[in-house]
Amino acid sequence: MYDVVIIGSGIAGLTSAIYSARAGHKTIVIGGPTLGGQIINTLHVENYPGYKDISGFDLIGNIASQVKELGVEIVSEEAKEITSDKKVITENNTYSFKSLIIATGLENRSLGLENEKKFLGMGVSVCATCDGNFFRGRDVAIVGGGNTALEDALYLANICNKVYLIHRRNTFTAEKYYVDKVYANSKIELCLSEEVKSINGEDSLQSITLTSGRELNIDGLFVAIGKVPNSKLYENLVETDNGYIVSNEKCTTSVPYIFVAGDCRKKSVRQLVTAASDGAVAALSASKYLEREK
Ligand code: NAP
Repeated sequence: MYDVVIIGSGIAGLTSAIYSARAGHKTIVIGGPTLGGQIINTLHVENYPGYKDISGFDLIGNIASQVKELGVEIVSEEAKEITSDKKVITENNTYSFKSLIIATGLENRSLGLENEKKFLGMGVSVCATCDGNFFRGRDVAIVGGGNTALEDALYLANICNKVYLIHRRNTFTAEKYYVDKVYANSKIELCLSEEVKSINGEDSLQSITLTSGRELNIDGLFVAIGKVPNSKLYENLVETDNGYIVSNEKCTTSVPYIFVAGDCRKKSVRQLVTAASDGAVAALSASKYLEREK
């Protein structure tokens, strides 16, 4: 029986582990198959206090070793179910808890097209920094109009032959800094007011067709259209709004023994520092709950 079970090993989950362990609670982090959450693929983090420039991988590595030194177990298992009798079930294990912190973050939004999932790793990707190198010297396309899509388009333009940037509007929501750079890059062709209608190929990606009917023969398609909460795990358990867990400044939820931290919480600012802040608050609230229940 754990005092605190934390689901999620991003910065929110790991920070809550630090606070929980330091408060003397028997704590475990169910971290999912890949440790670290969304930030793990970011090459340069330049807005986390104390670091002028650090990779997401190194930042998470530092925090994870701090967590482990405090005696917290981190397991690379995926939580499949949270039961009403206070258990988290993974594929091979069941973890009983007195209190639970949900820090499951967000997952990539998908286009919802046929072949999109089937061709993941076979031409379709959601991470330019992870997979871009497979398409060195080739033609690729990226979908989206936010910071991620434009930053990734610029990254891909450095290594690929040609990059089509497909966006459903004719203006971008990305910062002007990225927009100006994209417009100035001769390797990036803009396909504005366009959407991907179909992803074509037998066993792997061969081309895409746009809503205008234009067909692009590409080897790689990068989908960068934002993120959404992965609410399946908790939506029947706690109050949610559009998949985000409803809470307050104490990171409590509609269930007294469940707390929430990070991007899956309904809030207005989603940054590394606010995820870390939530982690601390959720753990301290869980600690107060455990004191009251003694
Ligand atoms: P985002 O800002 O939410 O942008 C999502 C983009 O995808 C929008 O252009 C949106 O178009 C488009 N989109 C959404 N659903 C779509 C659909 N079904 N089909 C086609 N297009 C669709 O997401 P993001 O770029 O991943 O950024 C997420 C957050 O991380 C933001 O706060 C961003 O500022 C931050 N970020 C910061 C940096 C940095 O500071 N260096 C880098 C990356 C990300 P519409 O405008 O039409 O909705």
